Amino acid sequence: MFQRFYSYAEVRNLHLEPSAKCQAACPMCGRNIAGGRTRANLPLKEIALAEFVEWFSPTFLRQLSTLTFCGNFGDPIIAQDCLPMLEHARRMNRRLHLNLITNGSARAKSFWSDLGALGAHVHFALDGATAETHRRYRRHTRFETILENASTFVDAGGRATWDMLVFAHNQHEVETARAMARKMGFERFVLKSTTRFNGPEHRVLDDDGQEVDRLHPSDRFPAPALAARPDREALATCPIQCKVIPQGSVYVAATGHVFPCCWLGAILHDKPGLPDSRKSSAAHKSYHDLVARIGEHRLNLRETPLPVIIERYLPHFTRAWGPGRERLVKCAQICGQTGIDAFNSTYVSTDEFGPSTSSAA
Ligand code: SF4
Ligand code: SF4
Repeated sequence: MFQRFYSYAEVRNLHLEPSAKCQAACPMCGRNIAGGRTRANLPLKEIALAEFVEWFSPTFLRQLSTLTFCGNFGDPIIAQDCLPMLEHARRMNRRLHLNLITNGSARAKSFWSDLGALGAHVHFALDGATAETHRRYRRHTRFETILENASTFVDAGGRATWDMLVFAHNQHEVETARAMARKMGFERFVLKSTTRFNGPEHRVLDDDGQEVDRLHPSDRFPAPALAARPDREALATCPIQCKVIPQGSVYVAATGHVFPCCWLGAILHDKPGLPDSRKSSAAHKSYHDLVARIGEHRLNLRETPLPVIIERYLPHFTRAWGPGRERLVKCAQICGQTGIDAFNSTYVSTDEFGPSTSSAA
């Protein structure tokens, strides 16, 4: 059951959440209540360039192969120092693969051309082939703006992926979106289905809690995990094979907290009994107990250096994978060997178009 945790020198992939802020309101995002107001338990923090430079030494940045800007609760491009942090990382490591996952609906043209010139790889969330379908999920973003930004980025040398989340309301546009991606010079078109439906539909609320829409899963491109979820017994006993240990990957949240992965970072603020904590928070009591035993502050880069967190504190998470009361349910849900890959089963298809040769007309 025990897997040796990587050392600080063995880390190769850094997943960073530059900001917990976002201008959008996607109805299944953990930052808001069904597309409405922001959760009360969410600290709206952001990482500044000075912190990035202090936390991640030149030696550490040089040993990385991938730096991914994404996160659980915010969009990287909203972080004030998003670009300077990437530029600093590029100066330290010319071969570093810079990855950014974003709604793409903000920032000036110069931001996108500078990002493209860095040779970054950006995943743009484009949930349809028209503004009408796109905004049903990617609420408060502008389809046309994202296309313009993607075009600027590709023209400047950036590598772009079109990520489309498919629902009943946009499934008829998949082929059109795929053709647009190819024509605009995207390198890839990735079709994904969500596993976040807890029933036949998902209500969308406004900031006052009033229903404004209902989303339904795609019947043409269903998420395989929807059809088969592991039962409680399987989650309690299955062996756990950590996805991030073999990758030497570590997650840093906008609050400065460090976890082995974003899945464990996502439940930190969902403490049982706190306002806006989800019902599922009770299932993660063993996780909250473990974080309390370690000391939440000891997992935070604003108080503890990265080598100490990685080598002294993160291995505690790997020791909580056996059956019993201390087992981390989230690890069983994500990495349990139940025959169902909860993460990868969201991927419906990937089209590779190769390096960009043309841009939007
Ligand atoms: S764009 Fe990303 S961070 Fe923003 S609301 Fe949507 S899913 Fe959440
Ligand atoms: S959920 Fe647990 S087992 Fe899976 S990658 Fe994260 S730390 Fe590893």
